[in-house]
Amino acid sequence: MKPIVAIVGRPNVGKSAFFNRVTKTRKALVDDFPGVTRDRNLGDALWNETAFTLVDTGGFVDADEDGFAEQIRYQVRQAIEAADLIVLVLDGKGGVSPYDTVMVDLLRGITKPVFYAVNKIDGPELEDRLYEFYRLGIDRLFPVSAEHGYGVADLLDDLVKSLPTLVSDQCAPDVAAISVAVVGRPNVGKSSLINRVL
Ligand code: GDP
Repeated sequence: MKPIVAIVGRPNVGKSAFFNRVTKTRKALVDDFPGVTRDRNLGDALWNETAFTLVDTGGFVDADEDGFAEQIRYQVRQAIEAADLIVLVLDGKGGVSPYDTVMVDLLRGITKPVFYAVNKIDGPELEDRLYEFYRLGIDRLFPVSAEHGYGVADLLDDLVKSLPTLVSDQCAPDVAAISVAVVGRPNVGKSSLINRVL
């Protein structure tokens, strides 16, 4: 099995755009409206000859403020449990949100590598959008533009170096693999079932 990289972040920060860029697909739905319900998306990625599976955690539904915070916690806990490495995408255009603090707190101190990407920094002239994010107390922030590609290569260069080293045959493509879809209402235990099987 390839290492699993999970993308987490609030709705509308650009997780799908990042997923699409790294997997070179248009698979994940990119939507202008926050809180669009969607399920997680899995895709194959390859960078510097290192293969990994990228997961766009998705799965938000419209909810009141408490429900939303709970969903964010749920999303991050699922990612911590299931992934080998986590990318938290932050919104460089919208700025720091209180939910970012919740997510950063959950990720602080976990033993798995975490990368912090400040998205929507579409070019060097917008890098000053990065600075306010330093108040989250993160040492290394990556300015990126999922939509235009700026900074993504630098992030991926470091990301693949942090992936657990696997013997090469484990990274071979799953030639005869069957795709199985697990469907069901939110919260019925789809993720727990998938995690158990994996
Ligand atoms: P998600 O809900 O986190 O998956 O966010 P999406 O990928 O659906 O993107 C939300 C919105 O942000 C869309 O309107 C995208 O076009 C926009 N967006 C995503 N990435 C970038 C970026 O790098 N730069 C800019 N300017 N907009 C972006």
